[in-house]
Amino acid sequence: MIRGIFDSHAHYDDKAFSLDRDQLIENLSLSGVENVVNIGCDLKTSKASVLLGKKHKIFSSTVGFHPHYAKDVDGDYIDILEEMSTEESVVGIGEIGLDYHYGGENRDIQKRVFINQLKLAEKIKKPVVIHSRDALDDSIEILKNFDLEGVIHCFGYDFLAMEKFIDMGYHIGITGVVTFKNARDIKLVVTKIPLDRLLIETDCPYMAPTPFRGGRCDSTMLIHSIEEIAGLRGISSEEVVDITAKNGKKLFKIK
Ligand SMILES: [Zn+2]
Repeated sequence: MIRGIFDSHAHYDDKAFSLDRDQLIENLSLSGVENVVNIGCDLKTSKASVLLGKKHKIFSSTVGFHPHYAKDVDGDYIDILEEMSTEESVVGIGEIGLDYHYGGENRDIQKRVFINQLKLAEKIKKPVVIHSRDALDDSIEILKNFDLEGVIHCFGYDFLAMEKFIDMGYHIGITGVVTFKNARDIKLVVTKIPLDRLLIETDCPYMAPTPFRGGRCDSTMLIHSIEEIAGLRGISSEEVVDITAKNGKKLFKIK
């Protein structure tokens, strides 16, 4: 069995895990999973992420407002996030960004909340977890004004977009989508990502890889993405695990 798997993006606070969360998490290491970063999407899920990070040795957490929830922020949300970010388990700000696929009508609010959180990340010197969907140009336009490290999570753009994010210093997060037969763009992207910028993630409970597509995802399924990436790169699965764990620990400053 391969050990040392680093899941750089998970949502174990999701209600999909309410019946078996603790047991599932306690058993992750039996499947070789050694690090999980649990991601906040609003105040409630950010708090839940911090708690998971306190409770489980292999967990770290991020806090932030996802673009879907940008419209719900209160006046003092940046102060609250800053306070939460002082917790030991918090390794970054996220997930933050722009999503014009579902939230096209809230573009101005999304941009404002995104920029405010980027400023916070710059102030507290933590990396960012970026959600960017159908919003490539605006994402790049905004990010280029900041000197930050981070990951473009659940990367869904093409090879040219990948190069732009790489040039800005970002990592690329690859989900189980890479195992889907029709995911030609992502497979091509994976063959070209500089290996020191590659991260793997479940985005669980979503994005289960083949053969679990459509079902509830968890970190034990990452092995299917790992094997696919190894095949595309012509390296071993162990190498994929070692490189992505090294990248994740360096980016999020996890020992
Ligand atoms: Zn997510």
